[in-house]
Amino acid sequence: MTELATPPIEQKQDVKRISHWIGGRAVPGESGRSGPVYNPALGKQTGAVDFASAEEIDLAVQTAKAAFPAWRSTSLSRKSAILFRVRELVFQHSDDIARILTSEHGKVFSDAQGEVARGLEVIEYCCGIPELLKGGYTEQASTGIDVYSIRQPLGVVAGITPFNFPAMVPMWMWAPAIACGNTFLLKPSEKDPSASVFTAELLQEAGVPDGVFNVVHGDKVAVDALLTHPDIAAISFVGSTPIAKYIYETGTKHHKRVQALGGAKNHMIVLPDADIDMAADAAVSAGYGSAGERCMAVSMIVAVGGVADELVAAIKERIPKVKVGDGMESDSEMGPLITREHRDKVAAYVENAPAEGAEVVVDGRNGAPDGGGFFLAPSLLDKVKPGTKAYDDEIFGPVLGITRVDTYEDALRLVDENPYGNGTAIFTRDGGVARQFQFDVQVGMVGVNVPIPVPVAYYSFGGWKNSLFGDLHIYGPEGIEFYTRGKVVTSRWPDPATSKVDLGFPQTR
Ligand code: NAD
Repeated sequence: MTELATPPIEQKQDVKRISHWIGGRAVPGESGRSGPVYNPALGKQTGAVDFASAEEIDLAVQTAKAAFPAWRSTSLSRKSAILFRVRELVFQHSDDIARILTSEHGKVFSDAQGEVARGLEVIEYCCGIPELLKGGYTEQASTGIDVYSIRQPLGVVAGITPFNFPAMVPMWMWAPAIACGNTFLLKPSEKDPSASVFTAELLQEAGVPDGVFNVVHGDKVAVDALLTHPDIAAISFVGSTPIAKYIYETGTKHHKRVQALGGAKNHMIVLPDADIDMAADAAVSAGYGSAGERCMAVSMIVAVGGVADELVAAIKERIPKVKVGDGMESDSEMGPLITREHRDKVAAYVENAPAEGAEVVVDGRNGAPDGGGFFLAPSLLDKVKPGTKAYDDEIFGPVLGITRVDTYEDALRLVDENPYGNGTAIFTRDGGVARQFQFDVQVGMVGVNVPIPVPVAYYSFGGWKNSLFGDLHIYGPEGIEFYTRGKVVTSRWPDPATSKVDLGFPQTR
């Protein structure tokens, strides 16, 4: 392959500038504003990312708009071939991307590889775009009249993404968006933006025409410019709930189609008949993986009946074995948090837990690696009560809470009354209860003895309640629907002999 303009960054290098990518080339920002990018394991700044002005956003939109007619007209077989090539290049460079993720996000390298692999599955799904865009056809709907439906791209669409999956969440958006024939603007998190620019280079290498995929960096100024721009047809957002709500309200007010996925407080119910070792393994993996910075992380365990003491003991026993360290060290299982401020905010939940009536079983403020990194070891809080901050807030860190209830119905009520509805899981050996739970629960993604039920690429991902604003979930069939709109054609190839004037409403019989 040709040499890439921006090689994957290595750790411990000097501060590097991260620029926009517009029209197939790196475009240094001219606003004079930028934000720091850190290596969280070292606690050191490694990059400075340009923040776009409204004018720079407009330049990117105009570039994407100019690229739209040709991309839209490109045949499906050609688009599919390009996507296969994209898939191949992302696959070949999986470790390069994972290395970028670890160096800017902090997640351990194996977890970063897993992120790329799950994003790759969405690209693979989109390689089948000719099949996905097939419409319906009805012959002889009325005498001599055929009716068919087609789906067409929207135009220029934008994606705004969070820090916690800097490669996968953008793939959830750009892969279906461009497969459907749209041109795309990505505004990645300003905290870990390099993976997006590297992806842009891979897409160019794969043959995606210049202007079809663009990256603009920035903060609220850039986001507001996207939300209000008249030439942007749709916005996909993934991030925290307050911002998701703002994105939905502002975007729809400016006549855009919006899907805005928000935060979460995922409950894992453990019934008395569950396999305790399996449940404890799952709780530790799903609570502390990626330092709890996953929207599908388990953050609250609901222990039903007499299961709590044994479960707390089993989790407590496992926690010291979790190796916390720099994500590039091969034995590290959990890396640092994204920033010093976020680490301190998460630690404060542990600090305040006793005053809220909870019990600190394991205190993660002890045992984190020394040095300047933004580390916090796993914490376990027992007897956490709804109505306290440790229960109600999305902590987004390695703090697992346990709440104790008497019955399955009490547990279900807690999940259903929670304002979030992203993911949930039930651990039991009773298939009947599990089936009832799946039927009843007011949550978008449900696991049965599976703690992180992220749907595979050919289903769609999305929560309920305050975890999603908008009607359509992301990627999978709903992603294709989101990035296209339907058109129905009623057609007649007339026999001139049958032509006549008829002012009545068209009848089919
Ligand atoms: P965030 O809401 O702070 O930021 C997300 C994006 O919005 C970023 O690109 C950011 O630059 C932008 N943004 C931030 N503040 C803004 C403002 N005031 N106005 C306009 N734009 C703004 O989220 P984050 O901290 O990057 O990510 C963590 C959050 O994302 C958690 O709440 C997590 O649950 C959520 N998340 C949800 C899902 C899901 O699928 N539901 C997936 C991943 C992450």
